[in-house]
Amino acid sequence: MIQVHNPADGSLVGEAPELTLDEVKAAVDRTCNAFPAWSRKLARERSELLRKWFELVRDDKRAFAEIMVKENGKCLSDAMGEIDYGLGFIEWYAEEAKRVYGDTIPTHAANAQVIVTKEPAGPTAAITPWNFPFMMITRKIATALAAGCTMIIKPSELTPLTAYKLLEYARKAGIPEGVFEMVTGNPKEIGEVFTGDRRIRKISFTGSTAVGKLLASACGQDLKKMTLELGGNAPFIVFDDASFDDAVASLVGAKLRNSGQVCISPNRIFVHDSIHDRFVSEVARRVANIRVDQGMQDESVVGPLINQAGLDKVAALVEQSRTEGAHVVLGGKPHARGGLFYEPTILTELNDRMQIAGTEIFGPVFPIYRFSSEDEVVARANSTEYGLVAYVFTRDLARAFRMSKGIDAGMVILNTGSVGTASVPFGGVKHSGYGREGSHYGIEEYVEVKYILMSGLDK
Ligand code: ADP
Repeated sequence: MIQVHNPADGSLVGEAPELTLDEVKAAVDRTCNAFPAWSRKLARERSELLRKWFELVRDDKRAFAEIMVKENGKCLSDAMGEIDYGLGFIEWYAEEAKRVYGDTIPTHAANAQVIVTKEPAGPTAAITPWNFPFMMITRKIATALAAGCTMIIKPSELTPLTAYKLLEYARKAGIPEGVFEMVTGNPKEIGEVFTGDRRIRKISFTGSTAVGKLLASACGQDLKKMTLELGGNAPFIVFDDASFDDAVASLVGAKLRNSGQVCISPNRIFVHDSIHDRFVSEVARRVANIRVDQGMQDESVVGPLINQAGLDKVAALVEQSRTEGAHVVLGGKPHARGGLFYEPTILTELNDRMQIAGTEIFGPVFPIYRFSSEDEVVARANSTEYGLVAYVFTRDLARAFRMSKGIDAGMVILNTGSVGTASVPFGGVKHSGYGREGSHYGIEEYVEVKYILMSGLDK
């Protein structure tokens, strides 16, 4: 069995099965065997099952949130927020299932009709990370099921309890075995089973760029479709014409969510020279008032990091920045309460050559850089291998437009730190991956376009 520990105190929270390869293959068989019947169901029937699942989970949100706090360490308000976000995908795709429209195209030949249909891609697989144990699963499986695909999911072995609870509720709702399967065990071996099975026609992965590349190469051998949502290095750009208070509040909220362990977390904060010092002081004032604690309470707190490797990485990165000349305005070390807690930290006097500028931090660290011109900050924002999201704060409409066009990212967010919801296309460019999740774009990833030419209609 896989033992799941609470990052806040190391206690044992529960166990998940450590499946053998034969058991994993049997689950893949079930996923593939269930496809013909599931894909032939009426869209309305698939929609009703998804809706039922949505309702059952919605009526028991608190139970899901508590499991998430225990296995992931995020605070209760973050967990409840994630559940609303994640439930949104089930609800949205329950509706969208009925709207996978095709097309007719004016015929190019006499006595013929051109019809374009969208057909489910086939049995699919997904691998998900630990930072959003609930939402990462719902946004993949709800889309797949709505499109008429079946799906097998391997959640992170660090947070499998939320995942198995979602499966349990899906079964209660009537979503059958095979249509939604779940496996846990050795990630590399399970990944190889997924990528190596010809019957699996699509894989959706969210996680590190390194693992994403590995899976993409393996999928390339079989020309499987993929959706990849990988690392980020989000710029958060504050111009001097921005609403100062909104920028500060949005930054603090976005950065401390999930203790900074989010792929869209502001990772390089660029503040215009003329407001830099005031901005740093105000962020420091606010952050200093936020408590670092375990998450099972009503107040929003900064929780622990996921594991020792996560803590060591953040600690080493801050130490390295200090060595390279950074100024530590606040925090700068593991928290005095011990364990996996790290102090919310603010760093200034940074430059783009420092290691921290090119690294996805995944911790409660605010690295604040200065800039003086728009052209300069666009170039610096783009000088990263990643391209997931960029945040821009300005009240100048023309500048907002220029920035939106100039930044290489899948998502540009103006004047707020809030990005995702079910109705928008989430995803990146460059080494942040490809494909989109959410909205009507998301479902396109799970269908194949089929062109049908009906000729000889005069006979
Ligand atoms: P993170 O740093 O967020 O944990 P990973 O890419 O390591 O990112 O993990 C994301 C998901 O990928 C997890 O479910 C993990 O178990 C899985 N994973 C890790 N290594 C592999 C691999 N070699 N093949 C398939 N899946 C993997």
